[in-house]
Amino acid sequence: MISFSDLPIRDDLRGKTPYGAPQAPVPVALNVNENTHPIPDDVVADVLASVGEALKTANRYPDREFGLLRESLAGYLGNGLDASNIWAANGSNEVLQQILQAFGGPGRSALGFAPTYSMYPLLASGTGTAWIASDRGPDFVITAEHAVREITESKPDVVILCAPNNPTGTPLGLDVVEAVYDAAQGMVVVDEAYAEFMPQDAPSALTLLPGRERLVVSRTMSKAFAFAGVRLGYLAADPAVADALRLVRLPYHLSALTQAAAVAALRHSDEMLATVHDIVAQRDRISAGLAALGYTVHESGSNFVLFGGVRDPHETFLALKERGILVRDVGIPNHLRVSAGTAEETGIFLDAMAELARPAASGAA
Ligand SMILES: *Cc1c(COP(=O)(O)O)cnc(C)c1O
Repeated sequence: MISFSDLPIRDDLRGKTPYGAPQAPVPVALNVNENTHPIPDDVVADVLASVGEALKTANRYPDREFGLLRESLAGYLGNGLDASNIWAANGSNEVLQQILQAFGGPGRSALGFAPTYSMYPLLASGTGTAWIASDRGPDFVITAEHAVREITESKPDVVILCAPNNPTGTPLGLDVVEAVYDAAQGMVVVDEAYAEFMPQDAPSALTLLPGRERLVVSRTMSKAFAFAGVRLGYLAADPAVADALRLVRLPYHLSALTQAAAVAALRHSDEMLATVHDIVAQRDRISAGLAALGYTVHESGSNFVLFGGVRDPHETFLALKERGILVRDVGIPNHLRVSAGTAEETGIFLDAMAELARPAASGAA
């Protein structure tokens, strides 16, 4: 048996570890921040009908420019955007990869503020982009001064701001985005994968797009929109950004079935997002419940909670898994991350945490 490192693989990939959130079949999976509510039957029926229509012409390549989908996404985002401002791919991970292919690459660098989304360094690595991990202040907050100092020093070609940040849940003020944009010479990407979970009156970086042609706001249908299995991520930016990404995307990268499914689901966006309010309530219930057990709970603007004061995260992870509950050990010492599920799933998780804390209250700090 040989390993991939024994193959004539690129030197910079030898010994690397792939993305690997566990995919165990457990009753209560709260580890990858999905919307755990199933898709409503009437939406399923409409998506199926649309996919069926698309299948009739699947002997031909799909619309390479996915015009109808871009129009639908622009309509969903509002903010005066039209189809020319939108680009999409198979998940926002692919969108981010294309951004790094076009604006990063060998001899170039991308900067993020760790701890942040674990895929950023992997996407950088895959595209030959140097990854610069800057840090965060107390309670994982980034201030404009700190961000500007780091960017002025490192001069990255791409800055990635995760807002709210995964895995910490930390919201990001638009003042930081504006300051970062002014300080950066390269592209500034705001990853708003969890934007729909922010308070309704919280402004999105979408509002900053006019006049900022190096700013990109990335979104996904994988989280609040309950469509993770379909793989559809997208961005809003100046139309020139889409022109740049056409140079690196594979031809016909979005299948006719994906396009049809996403367009159909977007016709039902109110229904697809109907559970967001309840998920936010469950998130707050998790925060309150864990705080009552003595854990340190970090502020979250997303559908998950990062909590500290866990004596042995791996041990707690395993004890929960034994009870059929999957959470995420994100590698931050004494911390675990849990996604807000349905009321029932949340109850099962909180009951298990209370039970684990009971013997000697040893699980809590
Ligand atoms: C989940 C997540 C995404 C979404 O990835 P998809 O490829 O669209 O499923 C993007 N960014 C962050 C920070 C995430 O947590």
